[in-house]
Amino acid sequence: MNYEQVFTTAVVKVKSQGRYRVFADLERIAGEFPYARNHGPGPDRVVVWCSNDYLGQGENPTVIAALCEAANRMGAGSGGTRNISGTHHLHVTLERELADLHGKERALLFTSGYVSNSAALSAIGKLLPGCIIYSDELNHASMIDGIRQSGCEKRVFRHNDTDHLEEILATDAGADRPKLIAFESVYSMDGDVAPIAGICDLAKRYNSLTYLDEVHAVGLYGRQGGGVSERDGQAHRIDIVEGTLAKAFGCMGGYIAGTANLIDAVRSVAPGFIFTTSLPPAITGAALASVRYLREHDELRVKHQERAARLKRLLREADLPVMPSQSHIVPLRVGCPYLAKRMTDLLMSEHGIYIQPINYPTVPRGTERLRMTPTPKHSDRQMDDLVSALVAVHNGVRFRLPAFA
Ligand code: PLP
Repeated sequence: MNYEQVFTTAVVKVKSQGRYRVFADLERIAGEFPYARNHGPGPDRVVVWCSNDYLGQGENPTVIAALCEAANRMGAGSGGTRNISGTHHLHVTLERELADLHGKERALLFTSGYVSNSAALSAIGKLLPGCIIYSDELNHASMIDGIRQSGCEKRVFRHNDTDHLEEILATDAGADRPKLIAFESVYSMDGDVAPIAGICDLAKRYNSLTYLDEVHAVGLYGRQGGGVSERDGQAHRIDIVEGTLAKAFGCMGGYIAGTANLIDAVRSVAPGFIFTTSLPPAITGAALASVRYLREHDELRVKHQERAARLKRLLREADLPVMPSQSHIVPLRVGCPYLAKRMTDLLMSEHGIYIQPINYPTVPRGTERLRMTPTPKHSDRQMDDLVSALVAVHNGVRFRLPAFA
């Protein structure tokens, strides 16, 4: 077999579909977010409009101070897996903090949000023989991965559609089998929000567990940043909540929170938890500082929502095809991968604006988009410049569309 040929052909295929991904070679500038130094084509300094550091916590001096202090006191790495020399007091403290944030008995850290979903869902599924997992059709790849690894039967319900979920739950009602409904609160590509209360009602009616991914909501919604389930007064009805430390908290790592028994079981059987080095002290200390900070600074969440609302309004007023998001995520529909790439190239080279085009398989073909994430750190001026640049670029490429299609 010509191995090189196989790899080249795979890339040629992706390129021929217009969805070859090019890394933006940037350097974040602590203290100047959303500005970043650009090492790729275009101006030296650009404004980032697509970061998942939703509140700029990655450059919060309190968070950086905690990071440095932990590294200076405890060194760079954790020194092992959680079970063999890699549990630090900071892990224990952060887990307590996260459990408290979500009103749960215990929490468990993982090295990323992806790993927490894939490790926890696969472990929970295996712990419940005969379990059926009901999964929203737009669930993240990490949940799909975990559900597949669990070996459980999976039923996919239409996105955010409680009628459809009820229909399929009802067909299994006769079977005395464990059930788990897995869904997200904020869907990261459309910015829409799950009907959490309705799903919890169904879970109760059909005696099912609920597993809620709050990755794009923790730190951002609820009085203390416990997510949409906190905001909607539903946190107590969620059996397992999953979150990340990498987005609103500005660091890295993931977690689940639930009952002490559930956490103890997952901790005892999940390979994705057991067989990997734990989070380093610096990141754990920084994340702990960030979670504590955001619990006390609701005004950042208020400002964040105001920024998102303003951007959506400006885009609508400029007649740009902003999608109907219910959250802080602001997607602009383009519908063609070539066009999306061309637009973002022009934004970067001519306007010093960085937005990553979003293509298949992250979103369905024909719904390619530019996904913007305004933060409390984006000024009115930067927002006005963004909208003017989008108008120029959108009208320009639309006019020339046949050349790219
Ligand atoms: N869950 C959802 C819904 C996500 O969008 C993501 C990542 O974007 C993850 C989980 C994974 O989180 P992390 O980036 O911490 O691995």
